[in-house]
Amino acid sequence: MSRIKLLPETLASQVAAGEVVERPASVVKELVENSIDAGARAIEVGIQRGGMSRIRVVDDGCGMDRDDALLSLERHATSKIASAADLAAISTLGFRGEALPSIASVSRLRLSTREPGAVAGTEILVNGGRIETVRDGGEAPGTQIEVRSLFYNVPARRKFLRSETTEARNIEHQFFLQALAHPEIGFTLVREDNIASQLPITTSLRDRIRDLYGAKLLDDLLEISLRDRRGIQVQGWIGRAGVSRQTRAQQFVFVNGRAIDSGILSTALREGYHTALMRGQFPVTFLFVDLNPREVDVNVHPAKREVRFRDPASVREAIVEAVQRTLESGRVEWQRKFNAPAAPAAVLPPGPAATRPDGGTTSVSSQIVGRDSARPSNFAPLDQASRADSLNLSRPIDGNRPEPQIEPRRDQQFQIIGVLNRLYVLMENSDGLVLVDQHAAHERILFEELRRRMEEQGVPSQRMLLPQIFSLPPRDAEWVECNVATLQKMGIGIENFGVNSFRVDTLPAFLEIADAAGFLRKVIDELKTTSRSSSPLRLGEDMIAKTVCRHAVKANDPLRYPEVEKLIRDLLACDLPYCCPHGRPTMIQISHAELEKKFGRKV
Ligand code: ADP
Ligand code: MG
Repeated sequence: MSRIKLLPETLASQVAAGEVVERPASVVKELVENSIDAGARAIEVGIQRGGMSRIRVVDDGCGMDRDDALLSLERHATSKIASAADLAAISTLGFRGEALPSIASVSRLRLSTREPGAVAGTEILVNGGRIETVRDGGEAPGTQIEVRSLFYNVPARRKFLRSETTEARNIEHQFFLQALAHPEIGFTLVREDNIASQLPITTSLRDRIRDLYGAKLLDDLLEISLRDRRGIQVQGWIGRAGVSRQTRAQQFVFVNGRAIDSGILSTALREGYHTALMRGQFPVTFLFVDLNPREVDVNVHPAKREVRFRDPASVREAIVEAVQRTLESGRVEWQRKFNAPAAPAAVLPPGPAATRPDGGTTSVSSQIVGRDSARPSNFAPLDQASRADSLNLSRPIDGNRPEPQIEPRRDQQFQIIGVLNRLYVLMENSDGLVLVDQHAAHERILFEELRRRMEEQGVPSQRMLLPQIFSLPPRDAEWVECNVATLQKMGIGIENFGVNSFRVDTLPAFLEIADAAGFLRKVIDELKTTSRSSSPLRLGEDMIAKTVCRHAVKANDPLRYPEVEKLIRDLLACDLPYCCPHGRPTMIQISHAELEKKFGRKV
């Protein structure tokens, strides 16, 4: 007896549906995409019990006549492509003709649709894939699709659904994605009969972001816009340097209008941000990458969440460049703002001997700059790194030498008020109060200084008293062999010394290392995983970022006025002043408006 049987039609549909319809949010995605493809100007999504009991999508798009409405429920029936050539350059969100039949096969579905000028519309009821009723319908022009009891006939799938709240959150995320991609469409989300989100039609993405996330987020964003010579366009809004989130929830990337999950794109963003992003954090991006549809294959993933680029490297480069340039332009704009003159205020006279008139007049337990002119003993970490002096790094601290008298510069528009808790420099500028984390600031300054040196002549190194020989596992050994030149630029004199063995005889002068082999093993271990495909320069940067921290001014190191002033001035001269090499912010601005709000002067 033969063992192979053809599956009954309904079972085959259910199997196929599994690919497209994973959870309620996938239904919302497919239905909203259809509404967008139908040219809708307004789309309303209504859900009940996390979409498990009901999902309804109503649009005012082109609608369908009766024949098309019936056809739309057939597998592989689509109005969007007709030939293999069309498949090679897809410009609509849908193209497979699978969504409606798939959804219909695993739910109770009602489709009601009407073309704008038609005398009557059509209403179709489908139950688990079987069409049960077809009749005239009287709804407004456009299409309404209602999906009830999702997976009622596929218990295996139902079991995998999460809680109502989680499913509702997934739907909301999907809704946000579509809404971001189409500010020109009005969107409404109704949850259990309450309006959860109402987004009016607008001409700009900026307005849509504001309507979704509030105006405050806009302050953290920079507009990005770049068209590269290959015609790849990168547009949208991205978080300023130092702005990040613990999850990917606000990392949106769209390729030709389609929300995409792509390792290539995430890596490119990370690379673009580089030290402007805290390790383990995610950037905030509303990024739209547009390229010739022929350059991208969307027919890869059943839910069309992934794409394949014909030339992934060029897409990557376009994104990296656009992000870098945008962050850089953010710096210029920010510096202009930062340096705008502060209103004259009663601040301490700047100068090396500046003291507060009296220690107890402010309620803030601030340590006033300059009060500790004697060098305290907890200065040790920097002293130990005294060889760094020969590097003449921009170290703002050195209490043992006669202090160069730094006159407040005339063009300097910020005023230093004092130091809070031996850590935060308090300053005033035209916008209000600025707090600078002296440790993070110093890290950034050291980082950029060392990077510059690395690019120019290499980091100064010092010879070890006794060269060390050590061996590495084969993969690590191979990694070192490939990166010897970079390591040498970094001041690490390393050479092959037999199979998988190495000899190291110089180390970067700014480092204080007792166990060279142990240090190198650690650095190699970390760099191997963090900088996979990076350039030598990037590798060096990672290494600097990893090591400078230990030598930067620590929190609690009291600085005197000239030191603080130099620190701030050096910081402002940095390429990316507002975050440390690990992406933590170096400074926080508290605006006059915020202060007034806090004091109840303004509501
Ligand atoms: P696809 O979107 O891949 O073409 P679907 O199964 O999602 O496949 O939809 C099948 C067809 O039904 C579409 O090609 C379109 O012609 C029609 N259709 C679906 N939804 C709508 C809608 N909201 N308004 C107008 N036509 C629609
Ligand atoms: Mg579709």
